[in-house]
Amino acid sequence: MPYESSFAGCNYLEREDALLAPYAMRTRHSKGRRYPEAEHPYRTLYPRDRDRIVHSTAFRRLMHKTQVLVGQPGDHHRTRLTHTLEVTQISRTIARQLGLNEDLTEAIALMHDLGHPPFGHAGEAALDECMRGHGGFEHNCHGLRIVEELEYRYAEFPGLNLSYEVLEAQALHSKRRDAPEVARFVNAGQPLLEAQVVDAADSLAYDSHDIDDALSLGVITLDDLSQVPFWLRAVERARSQHARLPALQFQATVVRALIDWQVTDLLEQTSRCLEQEKIRALEDVRRAARILVTPSNSVQTQKEELEKFLHERVYRHPRITRMAHKGQRMLRLLFDELCAHPEKLPQRYQERARASSLKRTVCDYLAGMTDRFAQDEYLRLFQPNTPL
Ligand code: MG
Repeated sequence: MPYESSFAGCNYLEREDALLAPYAMRTRHSKGRRYPEAEHPYRTLYPRDRDRIVHSTAFRRLMHKTQVLVGQPGDHHRTRLTHTLEVTQISRTIARQLGLNEDLTEAIALMHDLGHPPFGHAGEAALDECMRGHGGFEHNCHGLRIVEELEYRYAEFPGLNLSYEVLEAQALHSKRRDAPEVARFVNAGQPLLEAQVVDAADSLAYDSHDIDDALSLGVITLDDLSQVPFWLRAVERARSQHARLPALQFQATVVRALIDWQVTDLLEQTSRCLEQEKIRALEDVRRAARILVTPSNSVQTQKEELEKFLHERVYRHPRITRMAHKGQRMLRLLFDELCAHPEKLPQRYQERARASSLKRTVCDYLAGMTDRFAQDEYLRLFQPNTPL
């Protein structure tokens, strides 16, 4: 369905033609929405997707979901919401520089972590285990379930009725190509460049901010980082740009240098890839033999060393592991209890359970919880003397 929109003499589709690179995704080439809708007088397809995501319940819940530093006390470290906002603004910067569709990139970035359950990757592993033999659990698939089925804000359709391209970006991010939520998107070829940008921005954002948070929480020290060449190079960069670097601003300045360096490297390497692979149109992106938005080999190698350090020293730190296991145990116990006693589910979920699978319904209910709500629910169900 061709998509037209103009308001006050400004035709956005023409503006895209004037501003976007030939390999960018244009609104007029969208496959549109599953349930056709009337146009909005001045918001085009992808800005409406963005607005729907931001107004969704799942998006607000990102505020009380953590990814690595599960259940850590303190108000200064990232939550999934602030991580998502960081990924979004980094993605937009990159998209704009490359002449890609910034509106689409923004919507993909805002959605990219919607499907994460409470307690980060530990929670994901626990739910996957609970659902073994019943389709498993994976956050990208769950993100698609949220926006296609579970959100119930619109009278005319289930979910948020997002554009095909935003859904496809989430689907192609999943390794479970045979999952029912993903299968219809897998024959498209390579992901759109807008989706590739979000993927790269996600990775560079969490590598940088996990170091920042781990330092702030005292999980690692600046001394520990002296064995990480990537960090040391960022320190050199920061020092070369600042004649005076007081201790109070040191950490933030180096983290900023780390992000800036990675973004610049990504832009340079991606431009080289687009040139080498002779990418002149969207079809060339789809047919390309490889992912095109990527860091240079040298940055990639240093990034892998940094990730190895993060895995060993942060993600497997006793404090992190204890919280992760506690979260997993809570989810497993909640899962078993609610499967055995579906009458304890909220009414809306009891109806879903009767109409479909009980296990999937319980899994959907648990995956939607924030860390905080899951802990409260655990206490309500298992702790005597906890008010219901
Ligand atoms: Mg992310």
